[in-house]
Amino acid sequence: MSMGMPNISSCENLACAYNCDNKCNAMTVIVSENEGTKCDTQFSSAGKADLLPAVGFVAACCVTDCRYNNTLKCRANGIRIVLRSDHAECGTYLNDKIKMA
Ligand code: SF4
Repeated sequence: MSMGMPNISSCENLACAYNCDNKCNAMTVIVSENEGTKCDTQFSSAGKADLLPAVGFVAACCVTDCRYNNTLKCRANGIRIVLRSDHAECGTYLNDKIKMA
């Protein structure tokens, strides 16, 4: 099912409908350049999605200055989603300049 996509090892956004015990239940998510490295799949809701298994994967990522980004695909072994202000972001992001140092 993953087709080489990195998994989401944890997610801090407990308010998201796809979050189940700090795991992402969304199957696949998209990370965008909005507000840093925002998870564009997050969806705040009192109800929870009823999807199994509770493992999410990164389908696509538009953060082109991340060292793990290769032609708009994430090549990390896995990512963590963290809460920053009021939204979820990729906590595994590393600026590409770090790679060049
Ligand atoms: S680690 Fe980098 S390439 Fe992978 S999802 Fe996060 S920001 Fe995108």
